[in-house]
Amino acid sequence: MAYSYDDQNIFARILRGEIPNKTVLETAHTLAFHDINPSAPVHVLVIPKGPYVSFDHFAAAASDAEIVDFHRAAAQVCAQMGVSLEAGEGFRAITNAGAHGVQEVPHYHLHILGGRPMGRMVSR
Ligand code: AMP
Repeated sequence: MAYSYDDQNIFARILRGEIPNKTVLETAHTLAFHDINPSAPVHVLVIPKGPYVSFDHFAAAASDAEIVDFHRAAAQVCAQMGVSLEAGEGFRAITNAGAHGVQEVPHYHLHILGGRPMGRMVSR
């Protein structure tokens, strides 16, 4: 099945400036902002500016520049939020894709969660 990007999704609207966000970091190809419904003391979403649906779409189709920029930005977010292994006690980075991944917003995003022990990765 081909990737099909819905440009009316809420993160596309954030990127177009149609709805506000609490920005943590912005770079050439990447935006990071606070999750509106945080699951941990630190809960930041890192998204590419390009129209990618999911992690696998981004990893397969984005340019080298976008992929490098995204990961450097995510590392900077961890440091800035005080959860990197240099600055703090660690974090969890997760991304959901599609129906089985229980993805709500169909624009690739990496959740950076921290500020407390995050518990087991998935329920059994
Ligand atoms: P996912 O289930 O992985 O697609 O996660 C979507 C995330 O987007 C959830 O954690 C929501 O709380 C978050 N979210 C939805 N709308 C907004 C918004 N306008 N600003 C910031 N975060 C949002």
